[in-house]
Amino acid sequence: MSSSRRVAVVTGANKGIGYAIVRGLCKQFDGDVILTARNEGNGQEAIKKLNGEGLKPMFHQLDLDDVGSIDRMKAFLQKTYTGLDILVNNAGIAFKMAAKEPFAQQAEVTVATNFWGTLNVCKGLFPLLKPHARVVNVSSMSSSSAAKKCSPEMRSKFLVPDLDVAKVEELMTKFVNSAKDGSYEKKGWCQSAYGCSKIGVTLLSFAQQKEFNKDSRADIVVNACCPGYVDTDMTSHKGKKTIDQGADTPLYLALLPPNTTSPKGNYVSDRKIKTWP
Ligand code: NDP
Repeated sequence: MSSSRRVAVVTGANKGIGYAIVRGLCKQFDGDVILTARNEGNGQEAIKKLNGEGLKPMFHQLDLDDVGSIDRMKAFLQKTYTGLDILVNNAGIAFKMAAKEPFAQQAEVTVATNFWGTLNVCKGLFPLLKPHARVVNVSSMSSSSAAKKCSPEMRSKFLVPDLDVAKVEELMTKFVNSAKDGSYEKKGWCQSAYGCSKIGVTLLSFAQQKEFNKDSRADIVVNACCPGYVDTDMTSHKGKKTIDQGADTPLYLALLPPNTTSPKGNYVSDRKIKTWP
């Protein structure tokens, strides 16, 4: 029998900001919290640490880059719950500044996880979202700074009023193809694989809200956010915010009350809607 208990899923939660989002949800959300990680051992370690604080998240393996893993996550949710209430798409990667891999490779790998992986999780799990569900796509201020470095012509493509998910997919495909043939700057993109992948995540969120607005399920809200500059492995611990401070805006968005009209389909930082880019 599936349970009608409410349930939240956080991706990439074995460490960093995702881990702190799970910690916050365990304290503030009235329902089950599922900590997911691509590596089962790392995920179970994180569960043990949280158990040590008296918190009881559950674990499920989820690798954004593996559609089989996304299918298993979906099947587990379908079997165990009647739907999904909160989805926090937090998992992401970034090459270090000193990375030696060619730009084309960095672009392909980064967009594969940050954009296509996130999109595949959404495609897999969105059918399970219940009315009043909340989706948080952890993007980055880099999406904004990268967009500002792109050509005005390219930027105007990001801002077309009829931007839909298919158009965002097309933009990301074109970015990676132009990184591979070396024409990305001529085509108007900038030289930040991470920033351009997060342009995709931010634009995806805008397009997804438009779809939810037409959905028969009421009051599904998706927002993109920046957690701020956070002390994690990704930033080589140079960020000033603690992981709990970084989790604050994603948690605020995940816990928006029923029938929220704003923020809704926005880009949010420090709990405030920001003009994008
Ligand atoms: P970390 O590197 O500390 O953690 C990233 C998490 O994502 C890890 O759990 C990692 O798993 C997981 N992950 C990576 N690839 C996959 C995958 N294919 N499938 C599932 N999980 C995966 O980073 P942060 O906590 O700093 O970053 C969290 C999010 O916040 C990211 O989306 C990042 O881009 C964003 N962000 C971070 C900022 C910061 O200052 N830290 C600033 C702006 C945005 P594993 O341990 O196995 O590698």
